[in-house]
Amino acid sequence: MCEGCDQNLKHSLAPSRRKFLFIAASVGLSLTSATSAKEKKEAEKKPPKPRNVLTPDASLQRLLKGNARYVEGVSKRHDFAHEREALVGGQNPYAGILSCADSRIAPEYAFDSGRGDLFVCRVAGNFASDEMVASLEYAFAVLGTPLMLVLGHDSCGAVDAAIKSLRDDKALPGHMPSLVSAIAPAVKTASQQSGDTLGNAIRQNVVDNVAKLKSATPILSAAVEQNKLKVVGGVYRLKDGRVDIVT
Ligand SMILES: [Zn+2]
Repeated sequence: MCEGCDQNLKHSLAPSRRKFLFIAASVGLSLTSATSAKEKKEAEKKPPKPRNVLTPDASLQRLLKGNARYVEGVSKRHDFAHEREALVGGQNPYAGILSCADSRIAPEYAFDSGRGDLFVCRVAGNFASDEMVASLEYAFAVLGTPLMLVLGHDSCGAVDAAIKSLRDDKALPGHMPSLVSAIAPAVKTASQQSGDTLGNAIRQNVVDNVAKLKSATPILSAAVEQNKLKVVGGVYRLKDGRVDIVT
């Protein structure tokens, strides 16, 4: 075959070949998009951290075991680089923590947990304001978190300030009276108890806010009733880092 004929043949075949390649590419493309859509859907269904899919009781056990390691000084070494990658697509924390904002309390350290494990909401005096309730509702309803812990601590400055403000009938400056109002019910109950007023008020404040979360309608209360969610309260001991579950 001469060079010219070969060229002619190429030219004559070219349009249909192009069409074939176009069709093949289109089919390939649509198959690829179908596959990637399926893969994407499956990936969305998969929890980013499969070991975080736990029952409420198993979550509590995990939290307490983490705290025991922290107290003993044998915390795990966390692979932050790997965890970062796993969490790009989402999060499924195994516990929600409503903690005081005190800088000496660090829930991720105290429970020896990595990123993506704890959904931590913090406010001085660890009380369940509407925003805190809403945040924990999100953790349960959207992220599937099966356990909530209200975490108070020894020598809480917010509770101490509330006790003094109420006792001396002296308003705190700025926006701080809002903290006092939130903690006041626990202070009033504790003032009728014998023993250390500050310790009793700290404990009572945890107990009250656990009750508040448990009865928060419609999401958290229904979840607790159906045993899909557990709400517990604890007090962090500054001296050794131990968390005592109080309710
Ligand atoms: Zn505090």
